[in-house]
Amino acid sequence: MNEEHYKIGNINLINVRNVNEVKVIKMMKQVLPDYPKFDNCTLCFQDIYALSVSKVTPRYVQAGTIMLKKSDDETKIEQIVRSAFEMVIKQPNHP
Ligand SMILES: [Zn+2]
Repeated sequence: MNEEHYKIGNINLINVRNVNEVKVIKMMKQVLPDYPKFDNCTLCFQDIYALSVSKVTPRYVQAGTIMLKKSDDETKIEQIVRSAFEMVIKQPNHP
C-alpha cells in the first residue's frame, strides 16, 4: 500500500480506517473453533477475510477513535463471517 496515494498536500488520510475490518478479524477468531474441517491455511484465511469485509457495511473513523464495543451489527457480522467460512471450506481457492 502506497501511503502517498492517501495524501492531499500535507494531510494524510491513511489513518481513517474501517472499524469493521477489526470486528471481522475478531469474529473470525471467535467462530474458528466451530469449524474443525477448516484447513487453517493462509490463503483460506485471506479469502474468508476478503469475502467478509466485502459484505459488511464499512464504517470509517479516525484511527484514534476506534472502539470495539459490542453493537447491533455484531449479529450481522457473525452471520457474514460464518457463511464465508462455510463457502471457503466447501470451495477452497486451491487444490
Ligand atoms: Zn486452504
